[in-house]
Amino acid sequence: MVTGNFMLLAGIDPGEVDRWYLGIYIDAIEWVEITNTRGMSQFADGGIVGTKPYAASANYMKKMGPYCNGCSYDAADKTGDNSCPLNSLYWHFHARNRAKLERNPRIGMAYRTWDKMAPEKREALLERGDAVLANLENL
Ligand code: SF4
Repeated sequence: MVTGNFMLLAGIDPGEVDRWYLGIYIDAIEWVEITNTRGMSQFADGGIVGTKPYAASANYMKKMGPYCNGCSYDAADKTGDNSCPLNSLYWHFHARNRAKLERNPRIGMAYRTWDKMAPEKREALLERGDAVLANLENL
């Protein structure tokens, strides 16, 4: 979920994600791996396996495990230079995929929250997201 979420939010080509998972896990078998990668992890199967993308910000990651406590990024910050990359990427992902996702009843809340944000806040999130995407190799 952790690696898949990052690749989903970063917009990595699902074919590259397939190849990466097949390459790093010694027990990865293609017909099992592809279903999980395309369906569950990347929402790249047209919605056959999952009903919505499993996109998460640091808020969710903090609830799921202890890693944010020792991380050099600030899980609570959304737009600063040291903000957790997942926070801005979460909104960047929703903004750039709005045409595909906003009519999904399970995602509507995210777009309602986005639309209620101050324009400056939305702009700051997109700017930070752009900076993160431009520096994926150096995060
Ligand atoms: S603060 Fe660090 S550990 Fe927590 S979600 Fe962000 S990058 Fe991951």
